[in-house]
Amino acid sequence: MQPSAHTANTSDAEMPTNADSTTTDTASASASNTAAVNSAAVNTAAIDQRIATIRRQPFRAKFHLRVPESEFVALRGADVVARHARDLIGRRLAPAHPANDGRQTPWGGHPVFRAQHATATCCRSCLARNHDIPKGRELTAREQDYVVAVICRWIDTEIGAARPSRT
Ligand SMILES: [Zn+2]
Repeated sequence: MQPSAHTANTSDAEMPTNADSTTTDTASASASNTAAVNSAAVNTAAIDQRIATIRRQPFRAKFHLRVPESEFVALRGADVVARHARDLIGRRLAPAHPANDGRQTPWGGHPVFRAQHATATCCRSCLARNHDIPKGRELTAREQDYVVAVICRWIDTEIGAARPSRT
């Protein structure tokens, strides 16, 4: 059993709120994330910043696409993967009280699942802790767009297809 970052108990995936050196980073990333969620157009630079912050958590950093998941992206294409992301998020993350919340995302087998663990969009607790999107209510359409954008951006970066964001 791999360590789970989903449960409420403390783990290596917790936000490093008590570490002096990261206080400023956490605060600024939080502000940029709010911009990423709220802006009408998805803010790629803010998303990149948020992904970079999440990658500093050792638990998140160890997730990468494996060969079958990379092949899935290569074979089916980014548009199909994005459509799957939208569908999976809508069914498994967006409801106010998702089924099996905290355990609803397999460790892999689909690039979107892998991306969800890497980007802390795997369950509503991780989403609340890392993306400042509260649990206990349905995700808005804009929040779902944001989560899908985060997932697709991480996958693009993994397969080397992401262009640098403009700030
Ligand atoms: Zn989670």
